[in-house]
Amino acid sequence: MSEGKSYICRDCAKYSLLESKCQECNSPRILKLDDLLSLKIAHIDCDAFYASVEKSQNPHLINKPVIVGGGQRGVVTTCCYIARIKGIKSAMPIFKAKKLCPEAIIIPPRMSLYKHISNLIFKKFYQLTPSVETIAFDEAYLDFSGTYQLFKKTPAELLVKLAIEIEKELKITVSIGLSENKFLSKLASSFSKPKGFTVIRNAEKSEFLKNLHIKNIPGIGPKFQKKLEKNSIVKIEDIVNQKPEVLLSKFGKYGLTIWNLAKGIDERKVEALSVRKSISKETTFETDVSDLKILKKTLWILAEDVSEILKNKNILAKSLTIKLKRHNFKIITNTQTFKEPTILAEDLYQVAISLLKKRLELIPFRLVGISTSKFSFEKQETFTNFNSNSKLRKIERTEYAMDKIRQKFGKQIIKKGRALN
Ligand SMILES: [Mg+2]
Repeated sequence: MSEGKSYICRDCAKYSLLESKCQECNSPRILKLDDLLSLKIAHIDCDAFYASVEKSQNPHLINKPVIVGGGQRGVVTTCCYIARIKGIKSAMPIFKAKKLCPEAIIIPPRMSLYKHISNLIFKKFYQLTPSVETIAFDEAYLDFSGTYQLFKKTPAELLVKLAIEIEKELKITVSIGLSENKFLSKLASSFSKPKGFTVIRNAEKSEFLKNLHIKNIPGIGPKFQKKLEKNSIVKIEDIVNQKPEVLLSKFGKYGLTIWNLAKGIDERKVEALSVRKSISKETTFETDVSDLKILKKTLWILAEDVSEILKNKNILAKSLTIKLKRHNFKIITNTQTFKEPTILAEDLYQVAISLLKKRLELIPFRLVGISTSKFSFEKQETFTNFNSNSKLRKIERTEYAMDKIRQKFGKQIIKKGRALN
């Protein structure tokens, strides 16, 4: 952290020397950046996600109480913060919610829309780190170990920018908790919703934890809570004040776990989806195919599908394998390594075609497939900062321009000529 970067504004991401307000935009939402490099585990939770997505799609809803729910179960799935002020809560029967707030707008859940927006948000997570543990559509842990070398920014700075970007582009706000482990970061994110950013530093953790109710510790449900209360354990500091061996004898192994958590110790790792060994797609034809035009078109569609997965996860493939199944069910595979690791459908396609051409004497085929492997993670800049002089960058520019249009208007809106005939 260099001079002049003592504080960062959570509304405009400009650095400031003042703690009271941003020197650029006057916002009082300031984050202190001292010693934040050691805090690498973040918990991100979108605020009232389903209701926020509905509002993002319809500006008329913005200042209204919105409930997502109803349907067969007849309960509130999510409600916005305006509805929460009226006393509406998740899992409340709709008829009760209507009584509390007759003017509430009730919208049946649109899960595919929420999933789509969730994908766009997670894509942004993967642009910062490959270590993302999904908890729900709207909730994840991110581990920022090793990202400083890549971005020359602390996790806190990256997270401030991420929250601003998500709000600007998707009109969804998030609450962020940043700390040294999963337990503390999750606790932190729940602390100042909505649009929160809570940091629990190592030196602050016992102060932060001591007066909290024991139900803030994961795994302490109503039954166990009662048991602890019978032993005069109500606050987190009551656990800390116990001898661990006493907790062990009274409550078994879990007694030790809660003792550790109560002290802010949590060894659980952020469990990213196990790094996949390969990402592949294939198509089986209804009848065996000899027509090169059809084979090429199919490979293009497969290349686009595989590339989409790579782009969503922000990973580059180092090699590609083509799979061909002959009329006699015999499978042939051929692999080629890329000159440079790639994420582009165009690169996947070109290599797939060159491999196909080597095997054309074996037509007809009943199945074609492509598979990419040996992945690397690189920061987004390497494939969004275009170099207008190189041919490859021109390909990138075209493909990203197409991706952008599709992201906005749907996948079918724009297609390359080779996908059409
Ligand atoms: Mg949420």
